Amino acid sequence: MPNKMVVALGGNAILPADHQAPLAEQYGALERACERLLPIIGQGHQVVITHGNGPQVGNLLIQQEEAARLVPPLPLDLCIAMTQVQMGTMVQQVLTNQLRRFGIQREVVTLVSHFLVARDDPDFRTPSKPVGPFLTEEEKRLAETRGHTVHRIGHGPRPYRRVVASPAPLRFLERHVLKTLFDSPAIVIAAGGDGVPVVLDENGAYHGVEAVIDKDRSAERLAEVVLADTMLILTNVTHAYLRYGTPQQTALSSVTLEEARRYLTEGHFARGSMAPKVEACVRFLEYGGDVAIIAALDDAAEALQGSAGTRFTRS
Ligand code: ADP
Ligand code: MG
Repeated sequence: MPNKMVVALGGNAILPADHQAPLAEQYGALERACERLLPIIGQGHQVVITHGNGPQVGNLLIQQEEAARLVPPLPLDLCIAMTQVQMGTMVQQVLTNQLRRFGIQREVVTLVSHFLVARDDPDFRTPSKPVGPFLTEEEKRLAETRGHTVHRIGHGPRPYRRVVASPAPLRFLERHVLKTLFDSPAIVIAAGGDGVPVVLDENGAYHGVEAVIDKDRSAERLAEVVLADTMLILTNVTHAYLRYGTPQQTALSSVTLEEARRYLTEGHFARGSMAPKVEACVRFLEYGGDVAIIAALDDAAEALQGSAGTRFTRS
């Protein structure tokens, strides 16, 4: 039976880590990622694809900084929107060509996507999500004159990085259009780069904010909007592990809602990487989803069939 599903692609799973990787390599990585999705699409599932944008938005921020003497730098929310379109068009081209080779005539379409976030989200008070390149002392001062918050993250001559808030996504602004596209034969790419964050002002008008929404959270909200029964989070590890990184690490193959909550409390999953994925799976099941899966991109089709990855169900 065809499933309604959200497939979330982690930035690390689909892109070369090196920010100087030439464009051809980026296309190559996307080719490989889309190939993994083909068997799933070929089975006739209704799919919305979402993806991270860490490396792309990082590069775009460098371009803003380096060109600031010539043209005014664009704010982060616009850079996120630009990467939605940039990656959307790349996936549209790559995936359409692959589908054609298999005789599948389905359109691939990208939706420029916004999430409402709360102006008083607590994360705005303690921003900690690093964005953009590592900075020198001098670059740090320049960034601060632009109103950016900068933290010391590492060591050496470039120890600093800009940090922004990662507020919770609330309302998906294009939800009706998304639902219509999802229910059409098209394959939809939505909430790329985790969605453009906007806030509402006193007058009820929307404004972009300089923040970054967590991909796993935005994937789960998408799943709610399209009433998905399956959520597939594809990353660069084969499973969620207990005691990860220790000699006693154990790969999880199936996890109940109750177990997932317990493992989260016990601190098995690192904050900022695996914990938000497991939290997203928990919320998806609480919301009424049937199955949430965390798996390696290479194992996508097997994971959907139940022979790979970590599978979360209510009981
Ligand atoms: P993505 O771009 O797909 O969101 P992340 O780097 O945020 O990728 O998350 C995947 C990473 O989570 C893995 O590469 C791994 O290093 C890390 N990780 C932290 N805790 C765990 C755990 N308990 N089990 C598996 N991976 C974990
Ligand atoms: Mg991540």
